[in-house]
Amino acid sequence: MCERMFVKSRTASILHADLDSFYASVEQRDDPALRGRPVVAGGGVVLAASYEAKRFGVRTAMPEYAARRLCPDLIVVPARFDAYSQASRDVFAVFHDTTPLVEGISIDEAFLDVGGLGRISGTPLEIATKLRRDVRELVGLPITVGVARTKFLAKVASGVGKPDGLLLVDPDHELEFLHPLPVDRLWGVGAITADKLGARGIRTVGEVAAMDPAVLTSIVGTASGRQLHALAHNVDARRVETARRRGSIGSQQALGRRRRTRDEIDVILLRLVDRVTRRMRRADRAGRTVTLRFRFQDFSRATRSSSLPQPTSATEPLLATARAVLDNAWSMIDERGGLTLIGLSIGNLVDLGDGAGVQMALPFERSASEVLDAALDAVRDRFGAASLTRAATVGSDADAGVPMLPD
Ligand SMILES: [Mg+2]
Repeated sequence: MCERMFVKSRTASILHADLDSFYASVEQRDDPALRGRPVVAGGGVVLAASYEAKRFGVRTAMPEYAARRLCPDLIVVPARFDAYSQASRDVFAVFHDTTPLVEGISIDEAFLDVGGLGRISGTPLEIATKLRRDVRELVGLPITVGVARTKFLAKVASGVGKPDGLLLVDPDHELEFLHPLPVDRLWGVGAITADKLGARGIRTVGEVAAMDPAVLTSIVGTASGRQLHALAHNVDARRVETARRRGSIGSQQALGRRRRTRDEIDVILLRLVDRVTRRMRRADRAGRTVTLRFRFQDFSRATRSSSLPQPTSATEPLLATARAVLDNAWSMIDERGGLTLIGLSIGNLVDLGDGAGVQMALPFERSASEVLDAALDAVRDRFGAASLTRAATVGSDADAGVPMLPD
């Protein structure tokens, strides 16, 4: 018998996260005078239009003179690609902090698989809500998230949910959501295909689904006919594919607006080191370079790093290095004030699994710190990440609400 068992996931746990009017939103974030106004980033041609400008019919790729004709009050600002790349990196840091399964699609959108995160992280809807809040608070940008059982539906959902929205497609009502939508919501249907279909009276996804596939391919071609037929019937088995293994592993913590003492920052740092090194040990990776990223109330940022002579995944040496980096940065932090985020990443990673030049310490050679790491990891693997916290983090508000034992 060559029958394959195929268990369809019934849970909507794929997120499509897409920044709204990305370049224009960065411009509005950085210049309060532009907020609420019709803005385009570009010059000559429109690269991105704010929602206020879109309301006048201004669209990406439109010549500037045409956009000005539609919207006489239009403000055109020159594109600042450095600022956009930095904002993109900041947003992807939030994505990677949400789940290890991130598939970047472009500078401002990604798929995230949150299915395996377990109950500690919450439901996909709770995770998506937190993701949106984090992007708003940490990067200062609006983002729309679609949540669904498949990548295709998640992307459709984010498109429908825009701007600044969150939309979950209930797995039990997928076709009810999909079929009334206009055909150009289908992946791969541009203006030309939509026109061809429209000429035959086909305007909704449901109408595409009802078509004879042979007729459909005769109109739009074989490849795209097959794809449209599958999508209109809600068939999409693609998984979220992560890019090459990352060269660094990191995490970050928002600090809110209250001014933090040095001791409070130290506790947060300990938690970050704990979280990141545990992830490294789980992935059998070791790293040498400790980087701290700081964000301030005015969205300015600073980065400081330091390297160890040897790669390690042990908490103690990496924590000592992180503390030294924090020490060196402290006068700068104190001077700027308004620290709103601290991020930690460990770079220059090597695999421990493939003997890539790292001597694995034998169990009896392990330091007390490594034995403690292994013991803590074992408990957390069994009971969840929040089941144990190191003594130093107990009682700080960084851990407020986190139970000491699984409920
Ligand atoms: Mg976008």
